[in-house]
Amino acid sequence: MKKIRLGRTGIMATRLGFGGIPIQTVTREQAVATVRYCYDKGINFYDTAQAYTVSEGIIGEALEGVRDNVFIATKSGGRDVTAVEKHLAASLEALRSDYIDIYQLHNVVGDESLAKVMAPGGVLDFLKEKKREGVVHHIGITSHRLETILKALKTDEFATIQFPFNYIENDAGRELFPLARRMDVGTLVMKPIAGGAMTHPAACIRWILAQDADVIIPGMESPHLVDANWEAARSGPPTPEDLDKLESLARELGPVFCRRCGYCLPCPSGIPVNFIASAELFFNRSGWHKMNGGHVEGFLKGVDCIGCAECERRCPYELPLTRLVPENSARLLKKARELGVIPD
Ligand code: SF4
Ligand code: SF4
Repeated sequence: MKKIRLGRTGIMATRLGFGGIPIQTVTREQAVATVRYCYDKGINFYDTAQAYTVSEGIIGEALEGVRDNVFIATKSGGRDVTAVEKHLAASLEALRSDYIDIYQLHNVVGDESLAKVMAPGGVLDFLKEKKREGVVHHIGITSHRLETILKALKTDEFATIQFPFNYIENDAGRELFPLARRMDVGTLVMKPIAGGAMTHPAACIRWILAQDADVIIPGMESPHLVDANWEAARSGPPTPEDLDKLESLARELGPVFCRRCGYCLPCPSGIPVNFIASAELFFNRSGWHKMNGGHVEGFLKGVDCIGCAECERRCPYELPLTRLVPENSARLLKKARELGVIPD
């Protein structure tokens, strides 16, 4: 497997990395075996997060004894030092390690959040201190919002950026990734298969690896998937048939595919529009067991959407939200009843 220098981190990472979300959905035994299978196959880059429940613990268990042969990136969604300090300690313990290769600020969205983490005495300063102590080797940032991640990149404070990139969500290929390349900042591609929405993963992988981005981190919850992605990553550029498939998928999904960017918010009725628009993909990847009462509250609001269309006007991808929000909410409530999250 081809390796690439991950920007200024100097890390030589396999271009096919491992994304730690879907291993939450299988048994611990299968998850540990899958991560170990990745290692045995030759994958040396693993991405996880405090927010991915058991993911760090699985990776820690699977890679114990070979820790120094791999690179682990994890993240905290904390926006103050107390929270991040707690998350970092928990990550180290779960990963059975005394260092983190890349510690990322998780899903920073909007100017206010970015300003908060970068304020003097804030999270970034705390992580710099941890870097001086050798606990954190490099500091990165992730986001679903292009303007936020571009702004963060331009501060020159981060060694890596992580952003969604796939055949449908390809905005990063225009300005973000080329600028990161010029600044020698490593690029980590999340959602290379559009969070599982694209049904031709091999074509997606061949297409992305032909673009100018460093490491892709598809989620893989079985050795079979690892093999399939490994073969795709080794098989060269996309074929004309791949491009035809991707184009037809893009046409099919484009009108309803939510990028989770959050531009549609706020909704005057307090409906979590972005979550409702992308929830089925989220639960498919992270596990339906994650659905809770808080989500159900959002779905209940969603079925009562008043159709004011404010969200629709704001969505840059022109999703038909006045239709999607109540429809998706009704489907999600039905599922919540089936799962016993709410009484039948
Ligand atoms: S509905 Fe549109 S604006 Fe809202 S998160 Fe999805 S893609 Fe972004
Ligand atoms: S159309 Fe519905 S979901 Fe969208 S902003 Fe209006 S009330 Fe909220």
